[in-house]
Amino acid sequence: MLIAESLSKSFPTPSGSLSILSDVSLSGGEGERIVVMGPSGSGKSTLLAILGGLEPPTSGVLKLDDVNPYELSGARRADFRNQHIGFVFQDHCLLESCSALDNVLLPVLAGGRVEDSLVERGRFLLDRVGLQDRQSHLPAELSGGERQRVAVARALMLCPAVLLADEPTGQLDSQSAVQVIGLLNELVDETGSLLCIVTHDESIAERVAGCRQGRRLCLSDGRLVT
Ligand code: ADP
Ligand code: MG
Repeated sequence: MLIAESLSKSFPTPSGSLSILSDVSLSGGEGERIVVMGPSGSGKSTLLAILGGLEPPTSGVLKLDDVNPYELSGARRADFRNQHIGFVFQDHCLLESCSALDNVLLPVLAGGRVEDSLVERGRFLLDRVGLQDRQSHLPAELSGGERQRVAVARALMLCPAVLLADEPTGQLDSQSAVQVIGLLNELVDETGSLLCIVTHDESIAERVAGCRQGRRLCLSDGRLVT
């Protein structure tokens, strides 16, 4: 269960403090899907970064299964993120020198030798996203949609409790976008992850929020409204 209570975020600027989020509360559990919309600059990425343990809020509390990641030391927080939170960004953020399979295995490579069962899971996920024949390909040898499918597989490698996706289809053509969202929906069904996705695209929003357990929120003037 992810619980965010009264989060606020402001950034210091030369002309004073710039308030981006104020009094944002939200919670979600297993299998739920939250779509966050809002104009450019409204703080969507900032909110996702806070929810993902990447950027501490100025005030407010974040808890994932009773753990506040911002109370952990840097290294333990990084480990907590790796174990419990998956990210998909607008730019796939794959390592260009690693194969598709190695990119999917990145979350477990930090732990040293990768057990066969984890390699099997990596292969299974690439199979699930339709890239079974592309395991040894480098990102440069894949299309934009294929790279984003690798990024989705990587994010779900460790069955994270929370999957955060920041405009994951923002750079894709509409056909690839629909395919990526379809896979995202299917895979979070399987892992039971809470999905929190930011999108500008109305049809993508509907494909996620329209699911059972889906809902839609909007950031406006720093506040989250239903
Ligand atoms: P969105 O994702 O909705 O487009 P962002 O969360 O990226 O919006 O940014 C919200 C606002 O916060 C923007 O005005 C942006 O310039 C500002 N902002 C984001 N990060 C910082 C930072 N580190 N320092 C100062 N301002 C920032
Ligand atoms: Mg953004």
